[in-house]
Amino acid sequence: MNAPLTMIAQADPGAGYRALKPEIDAAVARALNSGWYILGQEGAAFEREYGAWLGEGMQAVGCANGTDAIALILRGMGIGEGATVVTVSHTAVATVAAIEMVGATPLLLDIDPDTYTMDADELAAVLEDPPPGIPPIRAVVAVHIYGQACDLGPMLAACEKAGVPLIEDCAQCHGATLGGQMLGTIGHASAFSLYPTKNLGALGDGGVLATRDIELAGRIAAIRQYGWKERYVSSLIGINSRLDEVQAAILRTKLPHLDAGNARRRAIADAYDAALAGGRFTPPLRRANATHVFHQYVLRSDDRAGVMARLKAEGVGTGIHYPVPVHEQSAYAGRTALGPAGCAETSAAAKVVFSLPMYPELSDAQVEQICGALSRLG
Ligand SMILES: *Cc1c(COP(=O)(O)O)cnc(C)c1O
Repeated sequence: MNAPLTMIAQADPGAGYRALKPEIDAAVARALNSGWYILGQEGAAFEREYGAWLGEGMQAVGCANGTDAIALILRGMGIGEGATVVTVSHTAVATVAAIEMVGATPLLLDIDPDTYTMDADELAAVLEDPPPGIPPIRAVVAVHIYGQACDLGPMLAACEKAGVPLIEDCAQCHGATLGGQMLGTIGHASAFSLYPTKNLGALGDGGVLATRDIELAGRIAAIRQYGWKERYVSSLIGINSRLDEVQAAILRTKLPHLDAGNARRRAIADAYDAALAGGRFTPPLRRANATHVFHQYVLRSDDRAGVMARLKAEGVGTGIHYPVPVHEQSAYAGRTALGPAGCAETSAAAKVVFSLPMYPELSDAQVEQICGALSRLG
């Protein structure tokens, strides 16, 4: 008889905690013992360290979650009611929710099926000739899905020509690069989720946004706390979206391990690519001149349920990111504007994509077990 299979989870944020437990426990104790729990030294230090990690001149502002990070950037730019914000339907619903939170109208474009990122040609066409019946386009939110860059060059050129800012949704791409530049430093501002399963994850909710624009960063820092520039006096219309000290202390502990974690994800992706070589599955396309950080390793199959069941029988957990495109979800269907070409590639992808286990703490033995199962899929 074979040894019983232990199931390998598709995501395992607890493994990220266990890997650094003594350091994280000490950081939590430090934050708790400080007696200061919201917007104190840990948060300020995390903002400094995250900005420095992103690169020269980057100002980082912590907030409550990645959705708020996008909404705060839009608010900081004065974008709300009476504005259209362009993004994609193939994303976490959070991207679209953030646009509606500030009162703006989302316009959802289709994706390039090879990279699952926004169709750059469609963006250029829509900026040049906006669809009728929607408010003027005031911003673009580019989603670097699964840990890989959008085709940012032409997208930025189209945005500059149209005079609208490009905001990067970096919730899945901490540490990824394009043309040697860190994602999150290329557009006008960028939003990062620090949800526990992200490449840099808190042990609770968290978010951080970044920009080179010092004035914008200052405005957003005020907006995230009731619009205060001085205590108890609101000079701007604000909200409450703060990163707490315990999460900031945990994030400061994890940040120095992020680059190594991303390298481990790439090594695991290389092993999956090799196990699939010559078979019927096409490994994820890696954009040339870019570093993919594999937030997800995504395959496609017309027999998705069957393949997922076979992998499960071999102890390999899988997930689907995402099973229903935003524009087909009942909260959005029938009332959300799409680009003139519709979202056919988005709808097609949602029916076939599935994600393999992917996190730095996967052991070599687990990776071997997964690769064995992949090679037996043929
Ligand atoms: C996770 C995620 C978000 C939202 O982040 P939260 O921290 O959950 O609010 C936004 N966009 C994308 C692409 C995401 O993956």
